[in-house]
Amino acid sequence: MPLGDAPMAVLAAALRASSVVIRYTRAKIVTVPGSECLWWRGAVSGRGHGRFYVGTVVAVDPGESGRDLCVIAHRFGYALIYGPAALNTVPVLGHGCNNPLCQRIGPGHVKASSHAGNRRAYLAAAVLGREPAGGSPGGSGQVHAVT
Ligand SMILES: [Zn+2]
Repeated sequence: MPLGDAPMAVLAAALRASSVVIRYTRAKIVTVPGSECLWWRGAVSGRGHGRFYVGTVVAVDPGESGRDLCVIAHRFGYALIYGPAALNTVPVLGHGCNNPLCQRIGPGHVKASSHAGNRRAYLAAAVLGREPAGGSPGGSGQVHAVT
């Protein structure tokens, strides 16, 4: 789902803030010997994807407090390369490496996809015995290859 104007402004500011970018790239991502993936080591959602705090969306009503904006970590990484506007046009990012924690943007790893394309990739991986733990995309499992 595309971000609205206020969250998009927070994301865009985060992408321009070197402290946030450094927190994403240096503090939260590690390499693992034998793996080409860039592994997320920060917070993880119930669906198995990295979660990254990018800022606070200011409340419209001055009497209310703002709300924290957390984004899916690899979507932040995608926006770092392609920009927040491009991210908003991509409904789904697929993991060609079948690793939902992977932050490497590019062929074989995180790339733009569609819900149908992501489902096909998931089923192909399942047939080949590479199904990630946790069940099918959109299911209640903890880890899968979508978004
Ligand atoms: Zn990967």
